[in-house]
Amino acid sequence: MFFSFDGIDGAGKSTQLELFCHWLRELGHDVVSCRDPGSTRIGERIRELLLSVEDQPMDNTTEMLLYMAARAQLVQEFIRPQLQLGRTVVTDRFLLSNVVYQGHAGGLDVGSIWQVGDIATAGLVPDTYFVLDISVDAAMARIARTPDRMERKGAEYFQRVRQKGAKDFERRVLRQGARVIEQVIQVFLHHFIQIARRHRPHHQLHSVFMTI
Ligand code: ADP
Repeated sequence: MFFSFDGIDGAGKSTQLELFCHWLRELGHDVVSCRDPGSTRIGERIRELLLSVEDQPMDNTTEMLLYMAARAQLVQEFIRPQLQLGRTVVTDRFLLSNVVYQGHAGGLDVGSIWQVGDIATAGLVPDTYFVLDISVDAAMARIARTPDRMERKGAEYFQRVRQKGAKDFERRVLRQGARVIEQVIQVFLHHFIQIARRHRPHHQLHSVFMTI
C-alpha cells in the first residue's frame, strides 16, 4: 500500500506521518517512509536546489520539472522496490503537491502537470492522499524556522494553494489540521483499515482506537 500526506507547511504532515507509521507498525505492517522531494541522493540534491534561497528567481516550469525529476528518482530507486518487497510506503508529499502549488497556485496548466506526473511516476498513484487543511495564519504561526524558498512565496500564494487545492480530486481524505493531533490521526487510521481490509481481507486488524 502507498500513502501520501499533503498540505501546506505547518499543517501537520510530518507529525501525522510519524504517528501513522507508528500505528501501522503496531498493527504488524512493514512500513517505510520517505519525503518528496528527497530520500535519494539525487533527490536530496534537487531538494536543496528547490528550497535554498537564491538571488535568481526560479521559473515556475523549471520548479515543476525539478520536483518531477526528484520524484522520478524516488519512485524508481525507493518507492517501487519497497512496494515490491511487500512494504507499505508512506511519503511526505507526492504529485498532488505539484498540481496544487505550481498548477492551482502558480498558474501552470493543471492537466499538463498530471500528464508530466504520470511520466515521472510511471503511473504509480497512492492508494490515498491524506490532505491536511489549515488556515494559512495558523500554519505560519506553527513554523518557527527561517522560511525556505517555497515558504517565502507569501501568504497570498498559500491562500491559493489552500483554496484551490485538490478540490476535484477523489483519491484523498481531507482533515482539519488544526484539530487535536489524536483526532486527526484517528480518521486516517480508520481509512487505512478500510483499505487494508480490501488488500488483505483475512488479515486480523485489532482495534487501535482503544489505545489512542
Ligand atoms: P508540516 O510537516 O506539515 O510542515 P509539522 O508536522 O512539522 O507540519 O507540524 C508543524 C508544527 O505544528 C510542529 O511543531 C508540530 O508539533 C505542530 N503540530 C502539528 N500538528 C498539530 C496539531 N494538530 N495541533 C497543534 N500543533 C500541531
